[in-house]
Amino acid sequence: MPSMSDQPTFDRFITSVKQFDISGKTLLLPDMAPFAVRLLAASFRAIGVPAVVMETYKGLSLGKQFTSGKECFPCQVTLGDILYHLQKEKKRLGAAFSPDNYVYFLPEADGPCRFGMYNKMQRLILDRFDGFKEVPIVYISTKNAYATETIMPPDRSPIFRRLSFVSMIIADVLDRIVWRVRPYELRTGMTDSFMQEGLAAMIATIEAVGADLNFNRLYRVLEDIVMTARGFIDPYQPRRPRIGLVGEIYLRHHPDSNQDLIRNIEEYGGEVVDASCGEWINFVAFERARKLRRKWREHWLEGDFKALRAAARKLISHEIEKLYQAWRQGQVYRSALQHLDIASDHSIRAVERRLDRNRLFNFDIGTEAALSIGGALEYAHHGFNGIVNVFPFTCMPSTICSAILKPLLHEKKIPYIDTAYDGTTQPNREAALRTFMYQAKQHLEASRARN
Ligand code: SF4
Repeated sequence: MPSMSDQPTFDRFITSVKQFDISGKTLLLPDMAPFAVRLLAASFRAIGVPAVVMETYKGLSLGKQFTSGKECFPCQVTLGDILYHLQKEKKRLGAAFSPDNYVYFLPEADGPCRFGMYNKMQRLILDRFDGFKEVPIVYISTKNAYATETIMPPDRSPIFRRLSFVSMIIADVLDRIVWRVRPYELRTGMTDSFMQEGLAAMIATIEAVGADLNFNRLYRVLEDIVMTARGFIDPYQPRRPRIGLVGEIYLRHHPDSNQDLIRNIEEYGGEVVDASCGEWINFVAFERARKLRRKWREHWLEGDFKALRAAARKLISHEIEKLYQAWRQGQVYRSALQHLDIASDHSIRAVERRLDRNRLFNFDIGTEAALSIGGALEYAHHGFNGIVNVFPFTCMPSTICSAILKPLLHEKKIPYIDTAYDGTTQPNREAALRTFMYQAKQHLEASRARN
């Protein structure tokens, strides 16, 4: 049991959960999507911020010990990761441990979800540990579409923003290569072991040329990876039922938290596509544009032309950034698609269209529910044979999503399953997934018979 310092105060939410120049500090990143977070860390290192991905899930008992059980599961997991990491560092360095050297990176979201409070709550808990009080928490926020000029020097921020976006999309494509190849691999384990080499090559390239925004070098590495990986596919294996994953972003992407759901589905005979990290980043940018447009309209109605001009400038610059991102995303996907038929990604507009002019759900309500509902219907439109909604137990948007999707997909005769996780083992999970996969196989056979 650690020793506790005095009771924390709420002004710590401002003084030590903040946005400041992180240059020179060791940035501690919680693990989430394995490829994405490692490429994000490499992007930070490329611009001179020593970033480290913390070991994950080893500290879950600590995360649970210092929470009440009412918190979202990702909050408990990430809390456990930071406590475990700092305790290990303290033990390793002994008297040389200096909390001032570290910064804990925990982004936040505005809107109705509890994600906006994780970093505040974790601040209160870190403050109870001697020596961890001095470790500041830095965040970026969905409020301004993850603006980074508040956490690094102005000359580095635009470089980092572009590099980290491209790195995220490359990570999505690496995931999609794995999901397309691994279920059909000639020898068990060959895809995973090769992709670790590919990841290491990509990290090294980002660190070497990322700061110069030399994206062609990154694309060449990606092409080498995809060309090798496609050779692992056994051409005699028939195509499996395709399963689309939607749900809460952390749980979807964190294999420890979702108890290796994707591998389990593959083991039971499926081929999986999970909603991408890029989808979330594009959604945040899309939401920001909607808010800026709303502001612009308000100023117009008020006749406040000075504010109107300022809002227009912001909107135009944001729209330019969105176009840039769409262009780069297209380049990354094309680099891979010319060699292998991985699943391509949808636009946020396409997701919104699936909501049937807001009849099924409305983006104004916020949260990931809109993405999950629209995303699931996109999968259905593209002939997927089953949908899995994966989320932390009690997650608000995913529960909404479940309530809407279940009857909709039932009507369309597409197998659907909810999988909620809280770190415990569900005794009937395997039976439920196997039954779901049986239904998905029947769905595939029925669609083949029809065509
Ligand atoms: S999306 Fe779900 S898990 Fe995430 S903060 Fe909201 S309620 Fe919690």
